[in-house]
Amino acid sequence: ALVTRIGPSPTGKAHIGTALQAVINRSLADGSGGAFLLRIEDTDRERFVEGAIEDLLAALDWLEIRPDESIEHGGNYGPYVQSERLPIYQAAARRLVEAGNAYYCFCTPERLESVRLAQQAAGKPTMYDRHCRNLGFEEVEKRRAAGEKAVVRLKVPDDTEIAFDDLVRGRIAFEAHTIDDGVLLKSDGFPTYHLAVVVDDHLMRVSQIIRGEEWIPSTPKHVLLYQYFGWPMPRIAHTPILRDMSRRKLSKRSGDTSITGYRVQGYLPEGLRNFLTRIIWPHPEGKDVYDHEEFVRLFKAADLPNTGPIVDPQLLDFINGQYLRRLSPAELYTATVEYLKFLLGLHQDIIFETYHPSAPIRQTLTRAELGSFYAAFTTNPTYTERVLTLEPERYKRLSDIVVSTGFFFPALFTPADPKLLAKPLGSPEKAGALLGEYLKLYRPEAAQAEWEQSVRELAREAGVKDGKLFMTLRVAVTGREQTPPLFEVITILGGDEVRRRLERAAA
Ligand code: GLU
Repeated sequence: ALVTRIGPSPTGKAHIGTALQAVINRSLADGSGGAFLLRIEDTDRERFVEGAIEDLLAALDWLEIRPDESIEHGGNYGPYVQSERLPIYQAAARRLVEAGNAYYCFCTPERLESVRLAQQAAGKPTMYDRHCRNLGFEEVEKRRAAGEKAVVRLKVPDDTEIAFDDLVRGRIAFEAHTIDDGVLLKSDGFPTYHLAVVVDDHLMRVSQIIRGEEWIPSTPKHVLLYQYFGWPMPRIAHTPILRDMSRRKLSKRSGDTSITGYRVQGYLPEGLRNFLTRIIWPHPEGKDVYDHEEFVRLFKAADLPNTGPIVDPQLLDFINGQYLRRLSPAELYTATVEYLKFLLGLHQDIIFETYHPSAPIRQTLTRAELGSFYAAFTTNPTYTERVLTLEPERYKRLSDIVVSTGFFFPALFTPADPKLLAKPLGSPEKAGALLGEYLKLYRPEAAQAEWEQSVRELAREAGVKDGKLFMTLRVAVTGREQTPPLFEVITILGGDEVRRRLERAAA
């Protein structure tokens, strides 16, 4: 049974990369009957962002990735937030100093800066010059007793190789002289990432670490710490950084990359989860869509890729669309209402983005528009569910429903632009005249064949192609050129509403 974890730092909105780590680690724990824990790594007080922890918890909860242990879920190995564990790190640092594996350093920021500048000028790597490494015990005690500020630094051995076995990449080795005598404990008593992560992973009995490859350069320091403490090193693997469609590191350039950002775009949690597992793991039968349980059962850490997975929005849309299709109209209605409530709770205008190779296509919905949509959508759930039965395969995201079903609701219907209405038949007069004729023979109770027949006959009498008349009717009734099949649309709208819209368009 594996104990896995993620240790996100609350430095902003939770990133999609954190969702990936969470899915992987949760699944590996589940696949082995183990436990998955969430630890908040908030020791860098300067980068702390207000609200980031709340955003992370809400995002993971939405994604239905529930830790067994966390600040929210409890557990026997807490506290699960590093800023509440300071005495533990301080004691660990003391233990290292006493064993001669770490040392107090009194160098001022000014001194460190001048050392750095000199190294830079000489074209050398910038590293601590070990100025305080060999201070005598008495001097150290005296200076500390006098209240001089000190940090604790890791004592990196001189000439040796520091290596570890990565489950995916194999053996990774570093020459010790390239590793800095990094700070473990800052002068304010806060640990750095290196000390805190090793102490916590050990005390929280983590047995397998999967994390992003940006942490590979830190790992040799961790290897040394495990050795110094005499603790077994957990199994470890590093996942490649996510890339965008231009194969560059996924960044703000490619849109909002926060988990909440994906929720705003209208993805379902199960769709996003399936997508994240899909881009790091090939299903044995090459499937894009599969049950999460199947992934949990089959996936092994050694399956992790060593090239950066591509966050392909079209694949994500495809997968998500498949999950939307599994929902009954009633479930789709509920999911959309929940989604709308979430959007309304953001109290801001919403921008929906659709992938396009040169630049995303954006569509803005103001707070006010969102409010009106919500009101119309929820006025008559039975009616709305009927709307949702029409061509559900058109929907890739819940936001598609929001941007494409408005015309079904009388309160939201905006009549077509006169130019659009005149387009199929070539002139506004012609469109107006034919719509007038059509109104005379319109019978809401007509069945589909009969209705089609009547439109075709009218077209023939007027000497126009029937497709042009159908399009004119479509634009008159819906305000748009693309809709689900027209007969189904008018059936749902009902005779009175259709007549009102036709009259308005004919006038
Ligand atoms: N605090 C690190 C982060 O923000 C965690 C790195 C690790 O998993 O060791 O990603």
